[in-house]
Amino acid sequence: MIEPSLSTEPPGSNLARNIETQAGENYRDVDLSKWNDWKWQVKNRITTLDEIKSLISLTPEEEEGIKRSGGRLAMAITPYFFSLIDKTDPDCPIRKQAVPRIDEFKIENYDMVDPCGEDSHSPVQGLVHRYPDRVLLIVTDSCAMYCRYCTRRRMVGEEQQPMSIEMFEEAYRYIKSKRGIRDVLISGGDPLMLKTEHLEYYLKRLRSISHIDIIRIGTRVPAALPMRIDEELINMLKRYHPVYMSIHFSHPKEITPEVEKSCGLLADSGIPLGSQTVLLKGVNDKPSVMKKLMQRLLSIRVRPYYIYQCDLAVGTSHFRTPVSAGINIIEKLRGHTTGYAVPTFVIDAPGGGGKTPVGPTYLISQAKGKVTLRNYEGKIFEYFEPA
Ligand SMILES: *Cc1c(COP(=O)(O)O)cnc(C)c1O
Ligand code: SF4
Repeated sequence: MIEPSLSTEPPGSNLARNIETQAGENYRDVDLSKWNDWKWQVKNRITTLDEIKSLISLTPEEEEGIKRSGGRLAMAITPYFFSLIDKTDPDCPIRKQAVPRIDEFKIENYDMVDPCGEDSHSPVQGLVHRYPDRVLLIVTDSCAMYCRYCTRRRMVGEEQQPMSIEMFEEAYRYIKSKRGIRDVLISGGDPLMLKTEHLEYYLKRLRSISHIDIIRIGTRVPAALPMRIDEELINMLKRYHPVYMSIHFSHPKEITPEVEKSCGLLADSGIPLGSQTVLLKGVNDKPSVMKKLMQRLLSIRVRPYYIYQCDLAVGTSHFRTPVSAGINIIEKLRGHTTGYAVPTFVIDAPGGGGKTPVGPTYLISQAKGKVTLRNYEGKIFEYFEPA
């Protein structure tokens, strides 16, 4: 069932060992039945300065960042995700994603509260309608773990009640009235933080609309709380096919045996899995790291879908790279590895322009009847077009 070769740990590692050696003393006595219970994981998230200080020694930048963060996008880290942190390395890519730092309070003059212009493209509360045939439905503000670079930090992390029935019905009426909508992307926050019955209510209602073709779920739960992917959830989801899932991953260390198992269950239930990755400075901006992530995703049956340029969300400037870093990553992937491992690199155009692909240029010139190409090795070729 579990392939040790897929783990980033040395061969022979197992979950119990992870708990003992990575997460520190405090988890040594947790029995596996608790550890594997997603509700235990959520209840025992690390949310306070005292708790985290008992587990790792913080840098002054982190300590100050944790003290100042609260309310929206407060710190919350599942014990599982925390167990992936390398306690001895302040630059650990898992740690950088999960532990607040003082840099979050540095604001650039071009930072934006709502970088993707979602609020201005929202016909009813909780619904974003930016593209002709599909909508984004934001059903909750809660996540398993709060990513410090979250683009929706303006609305995520207060852990309020999920979208009410009344609010959902208003979104439902809008979707039902627009026959051109054929695809609903359920997101948040994280929709898999909802109770299974609650999520099912939304799915059932959406499926009753005849012009809805596909339903998609955007989630980070399979990476941050893989034990949430249980039989009950799987059996529910597969009643509403075609259901697709876009899973947010950032680093090859996130591809653990537990994650492999969860993605296997999802794939076995017929849900096509895609990945979404935010390009993050010091986390995954090296082409070798991104390539490893994309290849590992394929091996757990997740097809790389998008790499995003880090949005201009307030307080995330320390995570941003130049756009050229993303283009260079695609350059190092395309042709050099399996085509399925090459996602589309996009910038969500600030202010609401939508996802805009950017990438290496392979079309060198276009003349009458002829185009000049370069391949992944830099060799030049000509293709002749019909007159
Ligand atoms: C990302 C997004 C979608 C889905 O876009 P795809 O390219 O089809 O995956 C739909 N609506 C909004 C508002 C989005 O941000
Ligand atoms: S899982 Fe998504 S919505 Fe939640 S904090 Fe991370 S980036 Fe934001």
